[in-house]
Amino acid sequence: MFVVSRNCSSLVGKLYSKFTFARILSTSLLNMGDMQNKFKLPKRYEGSEKSVWVEYIQLALDYKPLNLGQGFPDYPPPKYVTDALIQVASNGHMHQYTRGFGHPRLVAALAKLYSKLLGRELNPQTEVLTTLGAYEALYSSITGHVDTGDEVIIIEPFFDCYEPMVRYAGGVPRFIPLRPKNNGPVQSSADWILDKYELESVFNSKTKALILNTPNNPLGKVFTYNELSYIADLCKKWNVLCISDEVYEWIVYEPNKHIRIATLPDMWERTITIGSAGKTFSVTGWKLGWAYGPANLMVNLQMIHQNSVYTGNTPIQEATAIAFEKEIARLGSEECYFISISKELQPKRDFMAKFLLESGMKPVVPEGGYFMIADWTPLESQVDLNSEQDKYKDYRFTKWMTKKVGLQGIPPSAFYGSEHKKLGENLVRYCFIKEDKNLQEAANILQKWKSGKS
Ligand code: PMP
Ligand code: GLN
Repeated sequence: MFVVSRNCSSLVGKLYSKFTFARILSTSLLNMGDMQNKFKLPKRYEGSEKSVWVEYIQLALDYKPLNLGQGFPDYPPPKYVTDALIQVASNGHMHQYTRGFGHPRLVAALAKLYSKLLGRELNPQTEVLTTLGAYEALYSSITGHVDTGDEVIIIEPFFDCYEPMVRYAGGVPRFIPLRPKNNGPVQSSADWILDKYELESVFNSKTKALILNTPNNPLGKVFTYNELSYIADLCKKWNVLCISDEVYEWIVYEPNKHIRIATLPDMWERTITIGSAGKTFSVTGWKLGWAYGPANLMVNLQMIHQNSVYTGNTPIQEATAIAFEKEIARLGSEECYFISISKELQPKRDFMAKFLLESGMKPVVPEGGYFMIADWTPLESQVDLNSEQDKYKDYRFTKWMTKKVGLQGIPPSAFYGSEHKKLGENLVRYCFIKEDKNLQEAANILQKWKSGKS
């Protein structure tokens, strides 16, 4: 168009250029409409556009609160773990692709560890898969098994990605909430229980899988042997796969014990268990996970993995293998990180429970994991919930707190399906794997706020 108008000084030339301009404009408007339609999010992903992590990590960047939101330690991991990575980084042979289903040294270490813990010999080649974080292990387990119309039972509150992953696979999530059975000022996560009859009623011939998370995020519940037996019996009765997310397997507070559902009678055959180096060694940025289970189930995960990711990060896997080898050699001793991490976290947990209670909230003391949920509604009169637009009160509370009080938590309604979001509205989730001085600062912020000085 530019060339035409420059070369034509006659009226015809001007008219021609106007006409051409109008034509290009209308074509491009048409194209824009067409493009918007054609390139909109595919139907099967609709409804999962919002992510609490994306929103709250941005909120933390924008307002710079004391961040007890996303779960990660704000202090360095054990030195031998970072030393292993330094050692690996300087090895010139550790920087190319490794075996797709898992770096040989790492799958050998994982098989050795879990063979001991499960009391059965695991084949590192066929029964272990390493993944890009526990996220990918969940994704491969779900997508590799769930077919259109299959129902998947999800226990609430649940780690939020389970629901969209089930829907992406064409599955139908069936939610079943844990309910608190004690209304006192301090609860334990053990007070939150599944109603057996309610659980039984969601199983049917369409049920393909159940997703279990013990210790649970966000609640910290550690399922007991009895609870697991009940779940296992229903899985067996209805021929259902159990996907067991055990990323917090080593973070369990005395006297509770982590029980792997794969060790219950006849459960190995129908269980895929998921772990994460991020939680095991306090290196969430390494994004290395794994899944283990019987070979006939693992082939389905391997297939998803080989065609979407193919292979994981070599140096991170090698360094994690070195870290595992060290821990396997001292398994069960007091120095073993798998024991010391919970001992290190317990005083932090107790301190958080104390300062939340003193602030007027009602904490639920977790049996495992490094999150604590608390009922914030005794403080509702001090919060301007109308200043935020979100549908659920916990979103409005946590946003207001981040902006006005300078303390960030996560809104637990994000961990419920739409029918039960109300159950999370009175709650907030805080993370306590933080330096003592930062937990003290959180206590000071709440104290100041309570006394009306902030
Ligand atoms: N499951 C649960 C219960 C989690 O809390 C998380 C968060 N890290 C994951 C899975 C994902 O772990 P990763 O960072 O290893 O992908
Ligand atoms: N698992 C962590 C949490 O619950 C991190 C989640 C995430 O970043 N997606 O906070």
